[in-house]
Amino acid sequence: MNPDDPAIAFDPTPFVVMPGRPVRLDDLPTRGDDWVDGDPEVAKSAAQDANGTISARLGELQERLHATKAAKVLVVLQGMDTSGKDSTTRRVFGDGSPLGIRAVPFGRPTEVERAHDFLWRVHAAAPADGEIVVFNRSHYEDVLVVRIDELVPAERWERRFDHLVDFERMLVDEGTVVRKFFLHISRDEQHQRLQDRLDDPTKHWKFESGDLDARARWDNYQRAYEEAIARTSTDVAPWYVVPADQKWFRDLVVGSVVLEALEALDMRWPEPPEGLEHIVIPD
Ligand code: ADP
Repeated sequence: MNPDDPAIAFDPTPFVVMPGRPVRLDDLPTRGDDWVDGDPEVAKSAAQDANGTISARLGELQERLHATKAAKVLVVLQGMDTSGKDSTTRRVFGDGSPLGIRAVPFGRPTEVERAHDFLWRVHAAAPADGEIVVFNRSHYEDVLVVRIDELVPAERWERRFDHLVDFERMLVDEGTVVRKFFLHISRDEQHQRLQDRLDDPTKHWKFESGDLDARARWDNYQRAYEEAIARTSTDVAPWYVVPADQKWFRDLVVGSVVLEALEALDMRWPEPPEGLEHIVIPD
């Protein structure tokens, strides 16, 4: 984080999942109230200001990343339906240039994708030097929906936890910064958001009856997430469980983590080519 800029001095470390620690989602907050002092409305407005500053700074650093090719950056967003994966992408990364940032959604695999190993399509979408890639759902679906809907035998998905850790370690060894976020919403908040999709004509397109099937299996999903997060949070590719009932708090956590990671790259503008100062542009 940038300690010189109090507007973005939020510390997101309370939300990281320490490697090897069990995760109990019921015990983890879906709201940010415990982390803001005083009047909630004032805190919200201060956080919104900070979010504007963070996303502008992320935009600057993204340009520097694009120019220097100093790293590849992978951001993984997971969460129950309506947890805010799309809106986090828009709000946190919206100041970045489309030239260096990509959002990749992972839906049900195609026949060709299903005929390959589960990481095949994921690896192909991973960031190149200088790129930020945001995964909207990810390789984690292969131990979540695949597990719950019994799409492959248990002995196959059970081995995937190790494959996930190894895959991400390889990405990191090859120069990728990996940060993973579980957007943690409450059942009540999901109810409200699904209802909004039914009530608001501009949101009808987002409503899918399949979302209700996943809601009906809420507890199964929460348990599957707990195991996936606990078994795959590592020092090099950590998970954050983000309180996501309040969008402004969710954005503050995600934005702060990514900003911290980009600041740590300590990117300088590339050195000018030799003799640049002598070049005169002809009339
Ligand atoms: P979203 O719900 O994220 O807005 P979609 O409507 O395209 O996006 O839905 C994505 C669906 O694809 C989800 O139900 C998700 O569980 C499913 N999905 C993603 N990855 C896989 C996978 N590897 N195997 C099976 N289903 C998957």
